[in-house]
Amino acid sequence: MSDARVLDPTILREYDIRGVVGETFSAIDVGTIGRAFATIVKNAGGSRIAVGYDGRLSSPELEEAMVLGLSGSGVDVLRVGMGPSPMLYFAGATENVDAAVMITGSHNPPEYNGIKMNINGKSFYGDDIQRLGKIAASGDFTQGSGKVETKEIFSSYVERVFADYRGTKNLKVAWDPANGAAAEAVSELVKKLPGQHFLINEKIDGTFPAHHPDPTVEKNLEQLKALVADNDCDLGFGFDGDGDRIGVIDGKGRVLWGDQIMVLLAREVLADEPGATIIADVKASQAFFDAIAEMGGKPIMWKTGHSLIKSKMVETGAPLAGEMSAHIFFKHRYYGFDDALYAAVRLLSIVASSDKSLADMRDELPQMINTPEIRFDCPEERKFAVVDEVKSRLQGRDGISVNDIDGVRVLSDDGWWLLRASNTQAVLVARCESNSEEGLARLKSTLSQELEKSGVSVPDLG
Ligand SMILES: [Zn+2]
Repeated sequence: MSDARVLDPTILREYDIRGVVGETFSAIDVGTIGRAFATIVKNAGGSRIAVGYDGRLSSPELEEAMVLGLSGSGVDVLRVGMGPSPMLYFAGATENVDAAVMITGSHNPPEYNGIKMNINGKSFYGDDIQRLGKIAASGDFTQGSGKVETKEIFSSYVERVFADYRGTKNLKVAWDPANGAAAEAVSELVKKLPGQHFLINEKIDGTFPAHHPDPTVEKNLEQLKALVADNDCDLGFGFDGDGDRIGVIDGKGRVLWGDQIMVLLAREVLADEPGATIIADVKASQAFFDAIAEMGGKPIMWKTGHSLIKSKMVETGAPLAGEMSAHIFFKHRYYGFDDALYAAVRLLSIVASSDKSLADMRDELPQMINTPEIRFDCPEERKFAVVDEVKSRLQGRDGISVNDIDGVRVLSDDGWWLLRASNTQAVLVARCESNSEEGLARLKSTLSQELEKSGVSVPDLG
């Protein structure tokens, strides 16, 4: 059984634990993390934890180490097996458990793996993860020998996701789960859905042979776009490595980004719950916040980071929240966790009950001119300071308003730009958006000047 162990500090990240297997992160580490996590859950009055794992080659071994660690600290374990992260969250929401642990490297390259945790559906992140690291290093674990039980939850999960399908006409749909952990669940789901379905990369393969499993990077959507074009599909869905982030392609092969997907999903939610709060992160288009307000909803702009968005959702009772990174959380008719399969079913239902195509719906959204998310290096010890310097130079200046909920988001007549420090890397993130090319050029130039004033070498802003 694992004893006290000092974990590599780089694996204890803001929202999860993640490292390179065999370098910074091992099965022994996972056993220790299991003991520490069980200690925390037990001390909080919990006694049973669900465990799942993704399709990475290292995941079965790490899952076993986790189960041993948890049970060795005296909590009972419910093993739900391999599947997407939302399947594990589903177990957390519907089974008699106090916490849930997912072994997953999410959308990262094959050599990575990691752990996502929640207690009673609440994300375990930030200070919680640091505290877990301290307990691991102290070896001050609760003792015991918990019961280990295995339960097949895959079928009931897929059935539950399918249960909210409400389309009224048959469509042609392309699906690319990218050989990720959602691949089998997606395959089962499309067997149930009416319409004609075209599926690629539908075998779970932790080497990700087809392409990198991250649908928010456009080059990873090439195969899906080709599948849509070749089969004249109405739309297509892509999934990340653990099935909690979605990619959407319309019938013309164009990407719908997180904020655009959210506007379409919000319309249905707001028709059912008028005036409801809908949340998106600071990277989202102004068009999103305007659209929610126009539909009578209450838009909230919140900090980037899925754990932070989820916490805000619980606090405000919002039925829908989402991020540009395409984590979409439905509390409306569902449990409030991020589930890309569920989001796909909801969007498909909307398109399959409308006279309009998804491409038409996309064309009706305000057409903003924007940069993608631009990420560039900045020393760890400078990244927050740079943002603070820019903020203090701009606050109170005429003609602009500065929102500092997460970094600086500067709104002017030309549009807005954002500068924020990544919580997980030595990186600054920027984005600019306008409704005219000239406006966008002016925003970029202001942003460049501000970076220069703080001695940051200006990246290519596109
Ligand atoms: Zn993911």
